[in-house]
Amino acid sequence: MTDAASTPNNFIRQIVSDDRAGGKHDGRVGTRFPPEPNGYLHLGHAKSICLNFGISRDFAGTCNLRFDDTNPAKEDVEYVEAIKDDVRWLGFDWAELRHASDYFEVFYRSAIKLIEDGKAYVCDLSADEVRAYRGTLTEPGRNSPFRDRTVEENLDLFRRMRAGEFADGARTLRAKIDMASGNINLRDPAIYRIRKLTHQNTGDAWPIYPMYDYAHCLSDAIEGITHSLCTLEFEDHRPLYDWCLDHVDLPGHPELTESVRAAGFACVPGRPQQIEFARGNLDYTVMSKRKLMALVQDGLVDGWDDPRMPTLSGARRRGFPAAAIRAFWERAGVTKQNSVIEYGVLEGCVRDELDGSAARRLAVIDPLRLVLTNLPEGHVETLSFPNHPKNEAFGMRDVPFSRELWIEREDFMAEPVKGFHRLVPGGEVRLRGVGIVRCDEVVRSDDGTITELRCSLDATTRPGEAGADRKVKGTIHWVDATRAVAADVRLYDRLFDVPDPDDDTDGKTYRDHLNPNSRRIVRAWLEPSLGDVAAESVWQFERLGYFVADRRDHAAGAPVFNRVVTLRDAWAKAAGK
Ligand code: ATP
Ligand code: MG
Repeated sequence: MTDAASTPNNFIRQIVSDDRAGGKHDGRVGTRFPPEPNGYLHLGHAKSICLNFGISRDFAGTCNLRFDDTNPAKEDVEYVEAIKDDVRWLGFDWAELRHASDYFEVFYRSAIKLIEDGKAYVCDLSADEVRAYRGTLTEPGRNSPFRDRTVEENLDLFRRMRAGEFADGARTLRAKIDMASGNINLRDPAIYRIRKLTHQNTGDAWPIYPMYDYAHCLSDAIEGITHSLCTLEFEDHRPLYDWCLDHVDLPGHPELTESVRAAGFACVPGRPQQIEFARGNLDYTVMSKRKLMALVQDGLVDGWDDPRMPTLSGARRRGFPAAAIRAFWERAGVTKQNSVIEYGVLEGCVRDELDGSAARRLAVIDPLRLVLTNLPEGHVETLSFPNHPKNEAFGMRDVPFSRELWIEREDFMAEPVKGFHRLVPGGEVRLRGVGIVRCDEVVRSDDGTITELRCSLDATTRPGEAGADRKVKGTIHWVDATRAVAADVRLYDRLFDVPDPDDDTDGKTYRDHLNPNSRRIVRAWLEPSLGDVAAESVWQFERLGYFVADRRDHAAGAPVFNRVVTLRDAWAKAAGK
């Protein structure tokens, strides 16, 4: 993990640094990552996680994980658990685990205070009527006919809302702000609604639920969050965030502070500051939980952790190292300008990380038999191969070698095109770590398919022999056919085949842009040392790419590998880059 010195600066870190130096918030730094548990986290969330946890780490602060669970209709404990796993996997740990629902009683008492102060009222308008009264960007709204209810009547109705006396949607509690405000968010926004639903954390205790804007700022204040970082779409909500903090005034009201203690929390209510930054976006993907949910529910992918999914659990199963995702968002930076980052940049970070950390192995994913006719029948040897070409600390391993090998079918061309430097009839190529072989004969089946290459090994070119340095143009990899281990290998590619799958201007949706070739499963041959490796371990299969032993399906004796990424960016080449 990086430290403060190596983490690039950005405008938010600058604000935090200045605030701390200036003694604001008593020099304390508190952040939080506040997911709604209504789906799995995706790569965009990782930007927010790295930012919030990174700042607390680098400025001696604290970062809470807070479930923003104010809308029970879409929330589930499955998501709560998955989110915890993903945050830990990404390499972060929270100071405290909280739920907005931990504070329902505090929110309720705060609402009572707003009513008592004449700052909130119970409104009987239906959702459609509220919309009609709200006005537009160019026209002011109109006051609700219920806006001038007395404090007593509001208190009575709100208590009865809480007691469950009214039907869903029959009434709301609204902040009394300004129906003529140029900011529509300030036109008497609802702060409570009636929803008779079982909540994943509070069960059936509450028939009313607070709205996001009201609950979020108060949750931040209760937890002593100093810098509340959120994405740009909340910029227009900031005046409401501040209005609620001003008018509820948690720190200024001993009774409310006490209600925080009563809920079981040591209380440092303070005055948080909301700061917005641009969402992280990647091309060739969609990053909305709603759309990812639809892909899962409609069976277009194999679950939230399908290795093609941009979810963190998908990235993990795909074999993307957490360090690569952290490095990616650091490289991307944090600004107020919306932008879309090329997927290739993320893949580049994955390659950078794995190049140093993944040991090398030999594997053949599209096998063609090669027989070395000048070795005796039954000939076997054990060769010693370095596990990493650039790092001796990885050590050496034994690799079996024999008269019968597998090579990649694409490393042979019966009628070679110009510039093809691998094996051709009558031609020579170097077998990695073995020596130079010549193709003497091409064996075909009745239908013309090439089934075997009969070759001879030039013994003088073997390592340590006089001709070991003799030059040939190509080097290819191989595995010993007599001792290779069979494996299912899944060759993954991008889930979408257009840069902006969300673009529906041509009448197509993201569902029409799924890449039909995003997964291919092949039967491969691996060198035996790959047969019993740990699930989730990542290897470079020489010349092929990086591969991870699948987290779910891989087992000793029945290996299953996923291709993490190829060694080079084929998409950039296709795009002419
Ligand atoms: P989605 O639209 O995918 O459902 P969301 O913003 O509704 O995302 P939340 O669970 O509410 O999801 O998000 C938790 C936190 O992660 C919020 O602070 C949100 O701003 C942040 N976040 C979500 N998506 C991104 C993104 N693409 N880039 C940066 N931060 C993000
Ligand atoms: Mg959300």
